[in-house]
Amino acid sequence: MMKQYKDKIAIVTGGGSGIGRTICTYLAIRDVHVVAADRNLNSAQETEAMIRSTGGSAESLRVDVSDQEEVESLIQSVAAEHGRIDFLFNNAGIGINGEFQDLTMEHLHSVMNVNFWGTIYGCRSVYPIMRKQGFGHIINTASLAGLIPGGLTSIYSASKHAVVGFSLTLRAEARQYGIKVSTLCPGYMRTNIQQTTENVSAYMNSEVNRKMNADMKFPVPEDCIDQMMRGVRRNRGIVVTPLKHKVYWWLHRIVPEFIPNMFHRIIATMKSQTE
Ligand code: NAD
Repeated sequence: MMKQYKDKIAIVTGGGSGIGRTICTYLAIRDVHVVAADRNLNSAQETEAMIRSTGGSAESLRVDVSDQEEVESLIQSVAAEHGRIDFLFNNAGIGINGEFQDLTMEHLHSVMNVNFWGTIYGCRSVYPIMRKQGFGHIINTASLAGLIPGGLTSIYSASKHAVVGFSLTLRAEARQYGIKVSTLCPGYMRTNIQQTTENVSAYMNSEVNRKMNADMKFPVPEDCIDQMMRGVRRNRGIVVTPLKHKVYWWLHRIVPEFIPNMFHRIIATMKSQTE
């Protein structure tokens, strides 16, 4: 296992928080040199400091993944400095919750720009490098919301479905060049994304609904990282975590109306609690 990781170079976007930070620390423990890249440089620097304090090797860089030039220069600078890129985790992402009618064009564009275009920019920049090397692994963080319908997450789900479709298709054609492509599809996990995701439909912010959400028990990325990275190591096309969330994916394929019906009822309950 260690051989797969030792002395390799990994870039992790969104490496300053949540799933990205957990991926960074997982890799660094296994002797990977980690580049934690984040729009929030302070948080990426914290990840770097955490890794260094335990004897790992890391650096931190600022990048806004929705800016193609910034992504290109991040990837070029890492390749120039280290002479190779073994792993690119296109993980940075943002959320927006609410009914479609309440989302502005700005909301719609910003989610696609980060979640979808950010992933495309990363792949586009690293692809020629990995092709030249004849190896490399691109790992895109989509979501369970990229496999099944969501509740009040239309544009987020669209961005993640797009990442899944793109990644599975790229996986098939990249293989001839020795490039692996995997897609992470985590279910709900407690990270900073819950704090930074705006609920644009007013009823979602009611005291009752906030409490209902806060009371739900969800895992943190540390609970799922071993299983997630096992999927990456085995070069799986799609890695669903936590494992039990695979049930929703199967269910959706067997009974496609089940999840939309479930969310229909949840939305009705949320609205009734605020009336
Ligand atoms: P998080 O908010 O804890 O971390 C996301 C990180 O991405 C932050 O450090 C943030 O600064 C960074 N970021 C945001 N926009 C950026 C940009 N334009 N350029 C560079 N960095 C940017 O969230 P998380 O839960 O760790 O999310 C990581 C990924 O996992 C996202 O793609 C998210 O959609 C996905 N995901 C999360 C969950 C969940 O429940 N937490 C579930 C499924 C998928």
